[in-house]
Amino acid sequence: MAGIYIHIPFCRQKCGYCNFYSVTVETHGRASLQTYVNALISEIELRKNECPEPIETIYFGGGTPSLLNITDVVKIFVTLQKSFVFAENMEITFEGNPESLTKGYLENLRKYTPVNRLSIGVQSFFEDDLKYLNRKHSPKQALEAIENAQKVGFERLSMDLIYGIPTLTDEKWNENLQMFFSLDISHLSAYALTVEPNTILDKQIRNHKTKSPNEEQIEQQYLILREQLKNHNFEAYETSNFCKNKQYSKHNSNYWNLSKYYGFGTSAHRFSGTVRSWNVADVNAYITSVKTGILPSESEFLTQEMQYNEYVMTAIRTQWGISQDFIKTNFDEQFFLHFQNHIAQIPNDWLFFENDCFITTEKGALFSDAIAEKLFI
Ligand code: SF4
Repeated sequence: MAGIYIHIPFCRQKCGYCNFYSVTVETHGRASLQTYVNALISEIELRKNECPEPIETIYFGGGTPSLLNITDVVKIFVTLQKSFVFAENMEITFEGNPESLTKGYLENLRKYTPVNRLSIGVQSFFEDDLKYLNRKHSPKQALEAIENAQKVGFERLSMDLIYGIPTLTDEKWNENLQMFFSLDISHLSAYALTVEPNTILDKQIRNHKTKSPNEEQIEQQYLILREQLKNHNFEAYETSNFCKNKQYSKHNSNYWNLSKYYGFGTSAHRFSGTVRSWNVADVNAYITSVKTGILPSESEFLTQEMQYNEYVMTAIRTQWGISQDFIKTNFDEQFFLHFQNHIAQIPNDWLFFENDCFITTEKGALFSDAIAEKLFI
């Protein structure tokens, strides 16, 4: 089984904190979006012999996939279906932003495409937070998009929220969470605001035009998040991902389990278990290359060290943790010795040991990336 990721690199405007590869429709125009879809379809056709196993999940991410016309979404599906074997009961996720998820759009998405899971970028229900993040939508549009998605029959919804925004007090964070619970959505992705180099936010902070996030606030709001989710019977199945009734994101879980995935579109990645490859992160270069029949990608072979680091980095973030047995079975003895030496140096209240696995405590989950770094070779 494998998953497919489709990258749609267009957005209405660039959010301040964003370091994903995306361009704005204003600068590239709708015509480019159309040209891009044609290139994407050509790439899928060019790679159709690369994925022999049944496809279990498809994920449209971006960028903003909800900027695509429904006709183009259908065209992409038809090409995928012609090119690959689809498994039964596939999970097909589509990311969207509230300003483009109108009632009409959602109705058509539901009616004409097999999309069965929506991931909506809400980030906050407060205007001042959205302004700080340079988001395009309003809180009202976010609520309408969720309500309409539910009305037209999308049962599997996920919402993205961000904490640690300087304008977001603990009270407001609690209110965002209460709003989330009141909407009866089964999956939440909640991320700490991070300032990535060369983003708009990074430049604003360096020019003293806006405040930077505060570590204490981030820690406090993460603990509030974990507490509230526990009270509402949500599982913290990954550091930033939570669900009730076992509604895990199958697609993202496959990344964390180091399963195979394929990716199409500019900047999309593929992983075969031992080789990782990625397409050029430049929409124009991507289109030109695919038009001439050349696949615009580079690849690297993952050494044992890289595979070990990848395992440690992803497993420590999940509620299943790092399995000692997995390391013993899949890597040379020196890796296990290295792991044993370094895991002993992690503070006691960050980890617990259960069924042969090291799992983070609520406090430890805040430092999962730091723990992984400590364990790296
Ligand atoms: S909508 Fe998403 S991909 Fe687009 S700029 Fe904002 S965060 Fe980045």
